[in-house]
Amino acid sequence: MAHKFLFGFILLNITSVFAQPKGYWQQKADYKMEVSMNTETYQYKGKQQLVYTNNSSDTLKHVYYHLFNNAFQPGSEMDMRSQTIADPDARFYKKIKGFQGNEISVSRITNLTPEEIGYLKITNLKQNGIAVQTKEVGTILDVTLAKPILPGKTVTFTLDFDGQVPLQIRRSGRNNKEGIELSMAQWYPKMAEFDFEGWHTDPYIAREFYGVWGNFDVKITIDKNYVLGGTGVLKNNNEIGFGYEDKGKTVKKDPNAKTLTWHFTAENVHDFTWAADKEYLHDVVQVQDGATLHFLYKNNPKILDTWKKLQPKTAQLMQIYNKLVGKYPYPQFSVIQGGDGGMEYAMCTLILGEGTLDGIVNKAISHEMAHSWFQQIVGSNESKHPWMDEGFSTYIEYIAVNEIADKKRDNPFESIYKEYYKFLESGKDQPMSTQGDRYDLNKAYSIGSYYKGALFLTQLEYLIGKQNTRKTLIRFYKEFKFRHPTPNDIKRTAEKVSGANLDWFLTDWTQTLNTVDYGIKNVEAATDGVQRTGVSLERIGRTPMPMDILVEYTDGTKESFYIPLRMMLFEKQNPTPEIKRTVLADWPWANPNYFFEIPKAKSSIKKITIDPSTLMIDVKKENNVYEMK
Ligand SMILES: [Zn+2]
Repeated sequence: MAHKFLFGFILLNITSVFAQPKGYWQQKADYKMEVSMNTETYQYKGKQQLVYTNNSSDTLKHVYYHLFNNAFQPGSEMDMRSQTIADPDARFYKKIKGFQGNEISVSRITNLTPEEIGYLKITNLKQNGIAVQTKEVGTILDVTLAKPILPGKTVTFTLDFDGQVPLQIRRSGRNNKEGIELSMAQWYPKMAEFDFEGWHTDPYIAREFYGVWGNFDVKITIDKNYVLGGTGVLKNNNEIGFGYEDKGKTVKKDPNAKTLTWHFTAENVHDFTWAADKEYLHDVVQVQDGATLHFLYKNNPKILDTWKKLQPKTAQLMQIYNKLVGKYPYPQFSVIQGGDGGMEYAMCTLILGEGTLDGIVNKAISHEMAHSWFQQIVGSNESKHPWMDEGFSTYIEYIAVNEIADKKRDNPFESIYKEYYKFLESGKDQPMSTQGDRYDLNKAYSIGSYYKGALFLTQLEYLIGKQNTRKTLIRFYKEFKFRHPTPNDIKRTAEKVSGANLDWFLTDWTQTLNTVDYGIKNVEAATDGVQRTGVSLERIGRTPMPMDILVEYTDGTKESFYIPLRMMLFEKQNPTPEIKRTVLADWPWANPNYFFEIPKAKSSIKKITIDPSTLMIDVKKENNVYEMK
């Protein structure tokens, strides 16, 4: 197993080096950590060695670490935000009896006791053995280096850390409502990313992922009765057991030992997460020609049947994503009952475990596993461009869920369109370029990242065709896996695949609140006796689009017309080749009006429809259809 793994990675690295765009660079951070967990106090102590390589052309005088645990303290930015946002996440609140016996809602973070808060304290931080100056600023540790790190140079940081696992509020935490003892996400001092834009030292308020790629070697010492799952591969599996041992191997453990040390390694990831519980059951499923899946869930009779049934479905989902985007590159993936919604991590996901089979498979696993591709492997900046990972994961999630469903939909994204149109009426929409924490409402964030991000790709389907869009995803993954792409990179990839010019689309759709609205203004019969019909169209919204128009005749036949958008300098292939299509003159955006002729009498026309595919995000559908009375 180990040998095969290493070989796989050598191949991978070669391909990614070849695919690397000219001038592109990224930092590297290799972690070695040893941590021991006290399961009485939920405090842990660790040592970290971080080998950090500065591949930039800048000389670094500071580096910054994330101390995510510190968010779970009264008065933290996460606490303040959850108390001041107009539509707070219910998970941040609990109901208590008020002064006059009435029920009031209070912030859970504000009410954490010193034994329940989270913290991460760093001591003894050294750069190549020399002590450095540090300053803790909320969830960030600002490090003034002992010696600047020159371009191309590698340094070794060593430090000790003391942590306390917070009572579970969001993501990381202990003793959550499903009874999982330890969900250890964002638990260690993590180097912030420095890229061509500079440092990304976002405070931990809600959004989190943007990290440095590297290798992890982690040893976790914990009470011997706990079962663990998480990022990486267990190296000492035959000393640990619990279903991790090689088939047929007898695990010999020291009967006098109180603890076990679990040794995990993970290569080319930007995060490391784990979970532990005494009651975890552990099943292993092999995906055909793919990764090994691990399932860790509570030995709770109410959920056992569901957790058995979801295993083949998870394997099926992984195969769909492998085909849709590109092969999952790691040797394993773990689905772990955490205890707080669903959250994606490197090589694993933590999800709630007590829901229905449908809910867990179609909403949690399908989405969180999709993030393996769009976030954990294609590492866009989740704080700056949340729509890239949330939207693209949502897009492939909806395709996969439709594929495994008994009843398939023509447009699997229908509900997303509805939610987007409905939200627009509230007037609370914000541009997708909004930083993830800067949305006024949680709802605006959800619409802006999950839904409008997915609609970015369904618009590509409309603009350049479904096949070109699927090819774009595959090429995007191939060129940007283990990299940090920006919005321009997906646009450029779509342009390279299709030949269309899409600059205008990226700007209009992601940086403005411009909307699409086209309409059929007038349909009139020719007065010269020739059998032809004039159609006047209008562009009402600011965002331009090409036009697919379907004409249905009274004799039951159909014909389609395509009006290319001038600024795209592109002609889309006929999306419905079974229907005869006429390509008309292009439509220059600046002209709000367009006129064309149908070479048949008006009386023979039954119906004219703009965008019969309903893929185009037209905010007013009523004026898209003209029906003869
Ligand atoms: Zn997500």
